[in-house]
Amino acid sequence: MNRRVLSFLAHPDDAEILCAGTLVRLAESGWEVHIATCTPGDCGTTTLTPDQITTIRRSEAQQSAALIGATYHCLDERDGLIVYDKPTLRKTYDLFRTIAPALVFTHAAKDYMTDHEMASLLARAAAFAYGAPNISTLPRRADSQVPHLYYCDPIEAIDPLGNVVTPTTYVDITKQMQKKSAMLACHASQRQWLRAHHGVDEYIDAMQRHASMRGQQAGCQFAEAFVQHKGHAHPHNDLLKELFG
Ligand SMILES: [Zn+2]
Repeated sequence: MNRRVLSFLAHPDDAEILCAGTLVRLAESGWEVHIATCTPGDCGTTTLTPDQITTIRRSEAQQSAALIGATYHCLDERDGLIVYDKPTLRKTYDLFRTIAPALVFTHAAKDYMTDHEMASLLARAAAFAYGAPNISTLPRRADSQVPHLYYCDPIEAIDPLGNVVTPTTYVDITKQMQKKSAMLACHASQRQWLRAHHGVDEYIDAMQRHASMRGQQAGCQFAEAFVQHKGHAHPHNDLLKELFG
């Protein structure tokens, strides 16, 4: 198998909150890391225009990715408007086709907002089919494969009905927490936005509390948790456990 990993999530800063510790570990192990978002975060502001905020947030996402030598990609959809339709699917297929990842992270199928659920569905479709010769007009890399696919935690580790999600896989990110926090801190514009919209002034603290909760379950200080996709054709061995277990 190749060693290219793609995090395909809805918004800038989702990767930093949900799976960046694991991406750091993969980068440290020699993996080529790609961080993709569906939108550039155009609604993440109470004061700026869409053009102003997306310029800032693209730059923040690129700075964060650069901290681990990763490449940032954006599908250029819009916040609150991510849909599972043919044009968006084609863009997603083309992104997957270009990278040909062996390992993919995306959102939980059921999460607190539909942008996350649509991104999850797009990633699931593209992970399954990107290697099919006729699915994209872009060249097919020889080492294309149906990848290991993992769903990140939903926000607050609950589905929209409040049911607690039980992970299949934990990754100890204790040694990577400092880098993960530094990546999240690159998204400076969002500390301000979250304070205004949610009344929360603890952007990084909330991320660390969640990782601490998962760490307690996993028997370490900080962990990220995932549910592995086991659908037909996807590998069933727990790659993350084999790499970092
Ligand atoms: Zn998000």
